[in-house]
Amino acid sequence: MSLVRVALDVPLHTLFDYRLDGATRELIGARVLVPFGRKQRAGIILEVGGEPQVPLSRIKPVQRVCGNEPRLAPDVLALMRFASTYYHYPIGQVVVGALPQPLRRARAARDEPRLALTCAALAADWHQLPRRALAKRRVLEFLRVHGPATAAEVRGLASTAPRALKDLLATGWIARDDTEPPSVESIRPVDGQPGPLLTPDQAGAVDAVAASLGGFATWVLLGVTGSGKTEVYLRLVEHVLAIGKQVLLLVPEINLTPQLEARIAARFPAAELVSLHSGIPEARRLRSWRAAETGRARILVGTRLAVFTPLPRVGLIIVDEEQDASLKQQEGLRYSARDLAVMRAKQRHVPVVLGSATPSLETYAKAQAGRYKLAELRSRAGSQLPSIRCVDTRAEPLQEGLSRPLLAALATCLAAHEQSLVFVNRRGYAPGLVCFACGWSAACARCSARLVLHLKEGRLRCHYCGREEPITHACASCGNQDLTPAGHGTQRIEHALSERFPQARVLRIDRDTTRRRHAFEQMRRRVQAHDVDILVGTQMLAKGHDFPRLTLVGVVNADRALYSTDFRAAERLFAQLMQVAGRAGRRDTPGEVLIQTDFPFHTVYQAVCRQDYAAFAQIALEERRAVGFPPYAHQVLLRAEAATRGAVDRFLEHSAALGRNLSFRVEVYNPVPAPVARIAGRERGHLLVQSTSREELQRFLDAWQPQLSQAHMGRVRWALDVDPLDL
Ligand code: ADP
Ligand code: ZN
Ligand code: ZN
Repeated sequence: MSLVRVALDVPLHTLFDYRLDGATRELIGARVLVPFGRKQRAGIILEVGGEPQVPLSRIKPVQRVCGNEPRLAPDVLALMRFASTYYHYPIGQVVVGALPQPLRRARAARDEPRLALTCAALAADWHQLPRRALAKRRVLEFLRVHGPATAAEVRGLASTAPRALKDLLATGWIARDDTEPPSVESIRPVDGQPGPLLTPDQAGAVDAVAASLGGFATWVLLGVTGSGKTEVYLRLVEHVLAIGKQVLLLVPEINLTPQLEARIAARFPAAELVSLHSGIPEARRLRSWRAAETGRARILVGTRLAVFTPLPRVGLIIVDEEQDASLKQQEGLRYSARDLAVMRAKQRHVPVVLGSATPSLETYAKAQAGRYKLAELRSRAGSQLPSIRCVDTRAEPLQEGLSRPLLAALATCLAAHEQSLVFVNRRGYAPGLVCFACGWSAACARCSARLVLHLKEGRLRCHYCGREEPITHACASCGNQDLTPAGHGTQRIEHALSERFPQARVLRIDRDTTRRRHAFEQMRRRVQAHDVDILVGTQMLAKGHDFPRLTLVGVVNADRALYSTDFRAAERLFAQLMQVAGRAGRRDTPGEVLIQTDFPFHTVYQAVCRQDYAAFAQIALEERRAVGFPPYAHQVLLRAEAATRGAVDRFLEHSAALGRNLSFRVEVYNPVPAPVARIAGRERGHLLVQSTSREELQRFLDAWQPQLSQAHMGRVRWALDVDPLDL
C-alpha cells in the first residue's frame, strides 16, 4: 500500500494523506516527518491504505520515517482517538500534543549517551575537593541525586559546569553510562525500608484492590487525611511489581512529587522510577517517557499529561487527590486526566484507584450507585484526627486579619516549639487598594479585576493578565491621598505575624516565593528540618504534605468562596478546608484547627468541623439533584472571547439559536458573561448546554460543532469545554 494518513499538530478535525510506498499496517503509530505548506512537520501515522481523495501522483511523499524510534502502541492511539472524539478536539493536536516536546519537532530524535558517576567517584571523599570547586561539586551532586544524565543536561547546570565536566571526565570520576536496563522481572521491596503494620482498614483496602488485579475495576479509596492512603498505594505497588508489571501514579501537583518519589524509591530501590511533569527539563522528560515506553521503568509518577504515556506492562493506575481541579486541563484539549485514567484502565483490563479524603461528587455518586467500588479508611493511621472549630468573626474583632483565639493558639504553639500554618488563599499584600472617600479602587486597565497590592515588590499587580503598575498614592478619581489596602493576602498576614511574634521564624510559601525552580523543595526541607515556626501559605501548602511538627492550622478569610456563582464552590471549599486541616497533628501531638468565618453555621463549615465527608456529600448531592446539576446532568460549556462585548454576545446568541434548532434532548441556556468578564483586553462569555444523557449530549456536539465552525462570526475565539469544572 502506498497511502498513509497522518495526525499533525494542525487545528483541523482531520488526518492528512501522504504517500509512502510499501507502507504496511506495521507502521501505524510510527513518527514521520512530512512536508506541510512550506514547512516540515512531525506527525504520527494513524491509518495505512484506503482510497486517496485526489490522484496519488498529486499526494506528497513522507519525507522520513523515524524508524529507530518506537511506535505508539495501539492502546495509546485508541485513548487519543477517544479523547479527540469525546472532547471534540482535533485528532492531530491530541496526538502530537501528548508527545514529549522533542518528539513534536520536525527532527529525528537522537539518543544521546548518558553520563554517570564512576565507582572511583562514589568511593572518593568529595570533601577533599578544593573549596572553590563549586561547579564540580554541583555536577557530582546532581548525578548522585538524579542518576545518569546527558552531557547537555550537565552542562546546563551552571556556566562553569562544562569546564567541570571536562575535568571530571579526565580524572575518571564521570564516564559514559553503559549499564544494561534492569530486567522486567518480579521486583520485591527486599532491600527497601519495610512498611508499617497496616491498620485493619488499610489491610482491607489493599487486599480488596489486589484481589482485583488482572481485571478492570474502579476503586474509590476514601480515606481521611493521614489515614495512610499513600501506604495503601505503596502496598499495591508492591503487588504489581511482584508480578512484573508497571504502575502509573497520577498526582495533581508537581510540588508533591519529590516527597512521594522519595517514599517510593526508599521502599523499592530496585525498581526504576521515572517522573513526568513540567518541572523536569525536556531532555530528561523524553528519557523518562522512553523508559516507561520500553517497559523498563516500573513506576511512573506524573501530572495529568502522563496519562497518555505508553506503558506496555501497566498493571495498575492510581490517581491521587482525584477531585483536584488541576487534573483537568484548562486550555487546548480540555481533558480530565482522572476520567481518561479510568478509560485507560478499562482498555487495559487493570484496576484504577481514585484516592481522596474528599472525592468529587461525581466520583462519590458513582460509588454510591455501585458503579465504582468503595474502600474506606475511617481513621488516621498513626495519629488522631485534629479538632476543628470555627471562630465567629462577627463577634471577634480582628487585628490585621487575625482573631484573638487564633493569636492565642499561635502563641501556645510557639511556646511548645511546634509549628503552625496560617492558610490564606490570596497572594500579595492586599487584594485591593481603595479610596474610602469616594469608593474608587485600583483596577486593571485590561481586565475586569482589581489590582492586587504587592507591598514587598512595591507594585500593583493584576493576577489575571500579569500587568504591573507602580503603587499609586492618590485616588485617580478624587485625588484623596489616603488610600487603604483592603483585605488580607499572604504578605500582609506574614507581616502581621512577624510584628506580633518577633521571635518566631515566619516563612511565606506562595506562588511568588516559589517561582524559582527547586524553591518549593528547599522551603519544604526547611519546614521538615524545623527551621520554621509559622508557615503562611496558599493552597499550595494545603495539599498532601506531611509536616511532622505541624500541630496548629489557622484559616483566614475562606468565606469569599461562599459568594461564588459557581455551583461547585461549596464542594471545593469543603475539600480545601479538609485538606488544609489535614496537615495538623500528623504525629503524636493532636492537631488543632481554627477557621475564622462570618458564617460558622453554614453547612460547609459545620461539616468541616465534624469532619464528616459523607454528611456533606449527602446534602450537596441532594441539592444537585434538586436543581439538576452534575452529577445528575452532563454539561458542556462553549467559551468565547473577542475584542468587543458585542462580538462575543452575537456569537453566543447565534450559537444558542443554532443549538436550539437542532432537535436533541439537551437544554441550551442563555449566554452569560464569564465571571471575570474581561481579561487582557478580551471580552469573555460562555454558553452552557446540558443533558441528562451523556450520549445525547455527544450526538448534539457532533452536529453543533461543525455549525459553529462555519459561523465565521468575526474574530471570535471559541472552544468547547466538555465536563467543565469552572463555570
Ligand atoms: P494520607 O496519604 O492518607 O494523608 P499518609 O499515607 O501520608 O496518609 O500517612 C500519614 C502518616 O501515617 C504517615 O506519616 C505514615 O507514615 C503514617 N502511617 C501510614 N500507615 C501507617 C500504619 N499502618 N501504621 C503507622 N503509621 C502509618
Ligand atoms: Zn489584568
Ligand atoms: Zn477617591
